[in-house]
Amino acid sequence: MLAATVLIRHFDEVTVVERDKLPDGPEPRTGVPQARHAHLLMSGGARAIEELLPGTLDELYAAGAHRIGVPDALVSLSAQGWVPRFPEMQYIVSCSRSLLDWVVRSRALRDTKISVLAGTEPVALLGDREAVTGVLVEDRVSREHVSLEANLVLDATGRASKLSRWLADFGLPEVPQETVDSGLAYATRVFRAPAPAAAGFPIVNVQANPRDPHPGCTATLLPIENGRWLVTLSGTRGGEPTTDEARFVSFARSVRDPLVGDLIAGAEPLSPVYGAHGTANRRLYFERLKSWPTGVLALGDSVATYNPVYGHGMSVAAQSALALDAGLRSGSTVQQVQRDIAKVVDGAWAMATNQDILYPGAVGKPLSLTGRVLQRYVDRLVRTATTEPTVTRAFIDAFTLSGPMTKLMSPRVLLATLRGPRGTPPAPTLTAEERSRVTGPV
Ligand SMILES: Cc1cc2nc3c(=O)[nH]c(=O)nc-3n(C[C@H](O)[C@H](O)[C@H](O)COP(=O)(O)OP(=O)(O)OC[C@H]3O[C@@H](n4cnc5c(N)ncnc54)[C@H](O)[C@@H]3O)c2cc1C
Repeated sequence: MLAATVLIRHFDEVTVVERDKLPDGPEPRTGVPQARHAHLLMSGGARAIEELLPGTLDELYAAGAHRIGVPDALVSLSAQGWVPRFPEMQYIVSCSRSLLDWVVRSRALRDTKISVLAGTEPVALLGDREAVTGVLVEDRVSREHVSLEANLVLDATGRASKLSRWLADFGLPEVPQETVDSGLAYATRVFRAPAPAAAGFPIVNVQANPRDPHPGCTATLLPIENGRWLVTLSGTRGGEPTTDEARFVSFARSVRDPLVGDLIAGAEPLSPVYGAHGTANRRLYFERLKSWPTGVLALGDSVATYNPVYGHGMSVAAQSALALDAGLRSGSTVQQVQRDIAKVVDGAWAMATNQDILYPGAVGKPLSLTGRVLQRYVDRLVRTATTEPTVTRAFIDAFTLSGPMTKLMSPRVLLATLRGPRGTPPAPTLTAEERSRVTGPV
């Protein structure tokens, strides 16, 4: 939808070929199964969406999404310690993925030059290895085929994209690909937030430490619309959470700190436990193909997927849509635009894969010596961020995709990191008042 919003600025008509019948409201649907799970929208992505579709954030907040200041309203145990709740530096939009999709979709489709061909899927590209000229689409019910001619075909079909196969059908070389898989699985359940905690409650997040000699397990509590908490548990290979309802709270209590488990122990469940697998980091380097046909591009999960615990996929997709806009505006070739999209992917890709390869049993290329040194630096930086606001800011700007990764190496940040943390790092940062809103006065 964000890409369609960009394309309509440059072309007369945009047709979205969509496999699903789209729901008329914020409902989950088959084509986006991940929508059941925690979806944090980082401020870097939120700003990109707002630039593409002004007014989206206000509409989300009016519909009950929470604006969570980071780190002031974030209770987070990082790999290196509790992140202090310094005054706001960035923010996260916290709501269900279905609400986010619904608001974005209904705003995008206000432009009547964008139409959706629902219940339809592309089955092949039209054209040849020099120029893509459209797609052959199939109606999922009648199985009828129709050729759609187009000046530009943009693949945004997500992690199951068939673009590389279709390009190979044209005789183009295999698209270079990389996978780093920690074997992570997710389990998610929605709870009613206790009434006093229904508004103004922080995100609570216990992360894993990939250097621990056992699987990395996490627990995250997100306040979402309609006074609910969405709680997602995760575990890497060997430590996967199950979808057994009876074991949900005990798993949440078994991670590095029991806080999330304690908070939900007395809460009323509103949903079954949903599971998810297949969360590997997988990247297709389309931009590395020497010859690339005109008339075709890819963005979003079609290009790269990330371990979802880092919460970056939607933000990278939104920022890629901005790169697409800039490229089309400046008259770049499609190959150049694909390279610009790859640059947007780079930071989130490095952050996710450099961590994930450290988990026991992770599958992927081991870190190079430079990668290992950098990783040690980042460990120290995150540890320093537990007491030093300058470093906290650089770290938070990076993980909310709000600033260039190079900021992590600025002289001030570098010096502070080399000095390391000072004083005692904070203990769990949920305040007594916040806790009492859940457990009652002590
Ligand atoms: C468990 C989990 C949790 C996540 N948590 C976060 C998070 O906290 N924060 C974050 O930013 N990201 C998160 N992500 C990543 C995020 O979901 C994706 O990065 C994002 O949805 C990518 O957007 P996309 O438009 O590229 O693909 P998708 O959102 O997957 O959309 C693909 C679209 O294409 C349609 N489609 C698919 N195949 C076809 C076909 N053959 N023909 C026609 N239509 C088709 C689908 O119906 C859908 O509409 C998470 C992912 C997972 C798996």
